[in-house]
Amino acid sequence: MWHLLIQYVVTDQSLLNLQSVFPRSLALAALDLVDRGNVLKCIGPAQHHYNVLGSTATHRVFLNMPGPMPAYCTCPAFAYLVLSSESYLMCKHVLAARLADQMGRCVDQPVNSDELASIIMQEYS
Ligand SMILES: [Zn+2]
Repeated sequence: MWHLLIQYVVTDQSLLNLQSVFPRSLALAALDLVDRGNVLKCIGPAQHHYNVLGSTATHRVFLNMPGPMPAYCTCPAFAYLVLSSESYLMCKHVLAARLADQMGRCVDQPVNSDELASIIMQEYS
C-alpha cells in the first residue's frame, strides 16, 4: 500500500510533499479508505461533495472551495486538529477524497435536488 502511494505521489507534483506533510499513519488510513471504496462522490447539479464512510460514521468532505480554506470535513478530527490547533493541514477523509478523486477511485453517486436540499438544510441549520 505504501509503495502504491509513493508511486502515485511521485507522478503528481501537487502531492509530492505528502510524505513530509502528513504522518504516515494518516496517509495509510486515507489510502485504506480509498482502497475499500469508501469514498463516494456525490454529484449535484451545481457542485459536488464527497461522502467518506468511516468506521463509525459517514463524513461529508468538500474540496476546492473558494476562500482561504480549500477543503472542509464534517468529522470531529477536522474541527479539532485542523481548525482549532492547526496541527494538520487536513484529516484523513479530506486526504482520501483528494486521492480517490485524482486516482479515479471515487464511487459516483448522483444526488437529486431533494437530497441536495436536505444536505444544504443540514449544513446551514
Ligand atoms: Zn474528516
